[in-house]
Amino acid sequence: MIETDILIIGAGPTGLFAVFEAGLLKLRCHIIDALPNIGGQLTQLYPKKPIFDIPGYPTVQAEELVNNLYEQIKQFEPGFTLNEIAQTIDKQEDGTFIVTTDNGTKHHANAVAIAAGLGSFEPRKPPIDTLSKYEEKGVEYFIREPEKFKGKKVLIAGGGDSALDWSIFLADVAAEVTLVHRRNEFRGALDSVEKVQELKNQGKIKLITPAEVIGLEGKDKLEKLIIEKEGSKLEKEVDYFIPLFGLTPKLGPIANWGLEIEKNAIKVNNALDYQTNIEGIYAIGDINIYPGKLKLILCGFHEATLMCQSIYNRINPDKKYVLKYTTVGGVQGFDGTVK
Ligand code: FAD
Repeated sequence: MIETDILIIGAGPTGLFAVFEAGLLKLRCHIIDALPNIGGQLTQLYPKKPIFDIPGYPTVQAEELVNNLYEQIKQFEPGFTLNEIAQTIDKQEDGTFIVTTDNGTKHHANAVAIAAGLGSFEPRKPPIDTLSKYEEKGVEYFIREPEKFKGKKVLIAGGGDSALDWSIFLADVAAEVTLVHRRNEFRGALDSVEKVQELKNQGKIKLITPAEVIGLEGKDKLEKLIIEKEGSKLEKEVDYFIPLFGLTPKLGPIANWGLEIEKNAIKVNNALDYQTNIEGIYAIGDINIYPGKLKLILCGFHEATLMCQSIYNRINPDKKYVLKYTTVGGVQGFDGTVK
């Protein structure tokens, strides 16, 4: 049985930063993640993408942010159970919890922080019969190593931020980038839409709209796509087809934990501490929902901070904690030692 103060489910940016905030309060943390590595969406979906809205970083690559978060928390020596899915939760008579993974690992904690993001990552796939035949033979749903597309002919399908961002990024990497969307209007950020138009005018991105990829062809690997555009069929030679239609949110086993769920997310008390309808279970980051919720990394950081204050009070009902700044009063030094 692994013993800890806070059991965090999810090693995305929110779960990682929660370890730091807990550490400042001298609370121990253990993290479970279904994936073999930490970082959540940043590692899985966009490790090389720059992020522009982390305070204090004009720009930071997603994987660099994950590395820095780990650097920041390692002084508090969090434990990790990786490659295992948090499966069941049992509330004990004393109000503590036992969480068991699909591998049978048991964790005993005073409080549970669900930082499970989107749950398990399942890409939404276009309904094309032959699609699965070319998976890993030219069809990709995530871009983990952009270098792979160097000098290649790439066709991206989709109309949201991912499709736009990756088309812009790969325009400088791939030999040819084509963006196909079934409408003329894109759903992504205005800035990105304008940038794609600019790159189209410079001949760096080919835009085919309104259109849809309806067929894939190739002998041992993907060689050609069939595209339907306004009633006529086009053929396009490609090395890679990247449909970016978002992810299907799958809560997984957490959906059966008796938590109040709305729109595939866990309802929390955002006026106070991000606690769920079950006392002692909190939900932070992309996994939660409340009026005005924004799925942004910095919002997860904020939620983690308030949650840790609440858990401190839960674990130490007789102690009065007075918030001090991290550099004042020696709550915790940045010299790597816990005082
Ligand atoms: P996640 O990063 O989703 O991590 C959750 C983790 O929980 C995962 O590792 C998952 O494996 C694990 N998990 C889930 N269920 C279980 C279970 N039952 N057992 C064990 N583990 C489990 N945000 C910004 O602020 N700025 C940006 O520029 C930005 N760009 C983005 C670009 C793209 C393409 C995408 C897709 C998102 C972007 N975001 C951006 C959003 C940002 O990535 C999310 O807000 C952030 O990742 C949420 O962090 P999280 O820790 O809450 O969850």
